[in-house]
Amino acid sequence: MTRNILLEEYAKILDSVRSYVEDQIELGFSELQGTEQKEQANSLFSITESQVAITYNTMDEIKKAVENCQACPLCKTRTNVVFGTGNENTKLVFLGEAPGADEDQQGKPFVGKAGQKLTQIINAIGLSRDEVYITNVLKCRPPNNRNPLPHEIECCEPFLIAQLKLINPKIICSLGTFATQTLLKTDQQISRLRGKFHTYQGIRLMPTYHPAFLLRSPKFKKDVWEDVQKVKAEYDRE
Ligand code: URA
Repeated sequence: MTRNILLEEYAKILDSVRSYVEDQIELGFSELQGTEQKEQANSLFSITESQVAITYNTMDEIKKAVENCQACPLCKTRTNVVFGTGNENTKLVFLGEAPGADEDQQGKPFVGKAGQKLTQIINAIGLSRDEVYITNVLKCRPPNNRNPLPHEIECCEPFLIAQLKLINPKIICSLGTFATQTLLKTDQQISRLRGKFHTYQGIRLMPTYHPAFLLRSPKFKKDVWEDVQKVKAEYDRE
């Protein structure tokens, strides 16, 4: 084997290991995280609303604040802030984890492959992306699509809280482990949290699997379908 073929094989193996670890995290196997990471993860769950010192009156004000934000190192590596898109007066918000490469380039959430899957999911319940609001916990891309760090979530969460306060939705559908655990201040597994409504600041919250996870593990489609049907029933009822 030449050196290049060996390197290609090595890269493929690394990709498989990475996908495996991401799937395990998505399924909630936090044992894969080190103790220090777990402690950090727990400490991030101490943010309270009182820490949101600034009151924003419009989405544009929040967006400008994010664009000027230098609270964590992601501001140095981002191409664009990825703030949020859709209907700011909607009843339903979809919340993801953090922008990927495509989102970072375009400055819009969920425009890559996972985004196409999310669009399919939204369309499958009879809605369009323009009727809902789509945003992420982190507004800047973590390099190499690594998982968000506790400190980054801590810095960015006040912007999310401010967005949700202005939109005042009836329902939030949180996509995947990070979005769900950030809102619910828990380290419980997504597989246990999904499928039933929780409450976040008086808003009905339905956790489900992340669309990127579905791309890797299509057998969980049925679960997501069940979850979003419950979301739609609640949407129609409100
Ligand atoms: N994954 C996310 O969580 N958010 C995006 O915007 C894109 C991919």
